[in-house]
Amino acid sequence: MSTATVIPLPKPVLLPVEGLSERFPVRRVYCVGRNYADHAIEMGHDPSREPPFFFQKNADNLLPAGEDFPYPSLSNDVHFEVECVLALKAGGRNIATEAALDCVYGYAVGVDFTRRDLQAEAKKLGRPWEVAKAFEHSAPVSAIVPAARLGHPSAGRIWLDLNGKRVQDGDLNQMIWKVPEIIAELSKLFTLAPGDIVMTGTPAGVGAVRRGDRVDCGIDGVATLGVTVA
Ligand code: MN
Repeated sequence: MSTATVIPLPKPVLLPVEGLSERFPVRRVYCVGRNYADHAIEMGHDPSREPPFFFQKNADNLLPAGEDFPYPSLSNDVHFEVECVLALKAGGRNIATEAALDCVYGYAVGVDFTRRDLQAEAKKLGRPWEVAKAFEHSAPVSAIVPAARLGHPSAGRIWLDLNGKRVQDGDLNQMIWKVPEIIAELSKLFTLAPGDIVMTGTPAGVGAVRRGDRVDCGIDGVATLGVTVA
């Protein structure tokens, strides 16, 4: 069959990889909700170990390092959430927890920007979260650091500074659902594949940004990321 297309092919989403000229092609973006107890509590929820829940962003919502985050439309309460980001090199269905880390190509730090006012309205009305989560440029992300260099960090400080002041300060070891468990659970619901990205939830301290703010965040030993709100 012809590979010609009736309209131009959409641009592939490619993320830089630390230390390599080749880039990481993105397929889907999954996100985990309420994966740190102290953040669940600050959002008014019980942090007990309920099954994890997931939502998605779009691949082209990812914002590569070095670009400004444009303040989105129709919100007056856009929150930062610093998160550990997984990049998958393999997938499948019903992946065993013990085999899950073999699917991980690398790690990055990212921000799950959220229109909190629209999310609150969606929660109240029982509506889906896309308008709160899956908007343009809503997921700034650092270059991906290959696990081949880094290993698979299960601990390490995860932090975010707003205009130079530390506002989020957690540790990867505080995740309610650990990385292998997240992959195993996701693969019960979806067929995971190379190119999938998973944002693994945020520790406490989320808050609002305004135009002109500077957000710096990182995971010690993994990556850092700086982004300006434009
Ligand atoms: Mn989040």
